[in-house]
Amino acid sequence: EAKLDLVTKHIKPFPDFPSKGILFRDICPILKDPVALTAVIDLFEEHVRQTHPQVELIVGLDARGFLFGPLLAQRLGVGFVLVRKKGKLPGPTVSVAYKLEYGEAEVEVQEDAVAPGEKVLLIDDLLATGGTLCAACELMKKQNAEATSMISAGFFSATKTLRRIRASSSSRDIITR
Ligand code: 5GP
Repeated sequence: EAKLDLVTKHIKPFPDFPSKGILFRDICPILKDPVALTAVIDLFEEHVRQTHPQVELIVGLDARGFLFGPLLAQRLGVGFVLVRKKGKLPGPTVSVAYKLEYGEAEVEVQEDAVAPGEKVLLIDDLLATGGTLCAACELMKKQNAEATSMISAGFFSATKTLRRIRASSSSRDIITR
C-alpha cells in the first residue's frame, strides 16, 4: 500500500490537455524519481509473479508502454516486444485498425515477434477508453499468442472501460490505480 500511495502521488493531473474537457494524467514524475519508478516496477512484478507466473513475453504499447515494459521484462527474465503505431517497424508486420474518439489509428507488430501460443502480457501507462489495448489484444490474437494479462500504472477513466476490456477477447486480468 505504501508503494501504491507513492506511485499515485507521482501521477499528476492536467485538466484540459491535450484538449478541453480531457483530464490528462502525467506519469513523467514517476520516471523522474528512482524510488517511485522502482515502486511501480515492484508492484508490477509482484502482481505478475502471483497471478501470471507463466508469462513468457512482455508486449509494450506505443509509446509509454516502452518506458515500463523493458524494466519489468528484465525483472521477470523474459523478452520485450513493441506494438507500434503504423509505419514505424521494419520488415513484414501484422496490423490492426481501431477507432479513436476522432478518426482512426492502426497498431502494428513485427510478424515474427510473437510465437504462436506464447503467453504474453501487455503493458501501457494508462487506459482511457481501452481502445488501444483492445486493438493490441486483437493483434496478439492474429499472431495466435495468448494474451494473459494487462497492466497499467495509470487510471481507468470509466467502469465502462473495464467492462469492455473484460469482455474483450483475451485480456482477463488488469492491475491499475
Ligand atoms: P485509450 O486507447 O485507452 O483511449 O488511450 C490509452 C492510450 O492513450 C495509452 O497509450 C496512453 O498512453 C494514452 N493516454 C490517453 N490518456 C492519457 C492520459 O491521461 N495520460 C497518459 N499518460 N496517457 C494517456
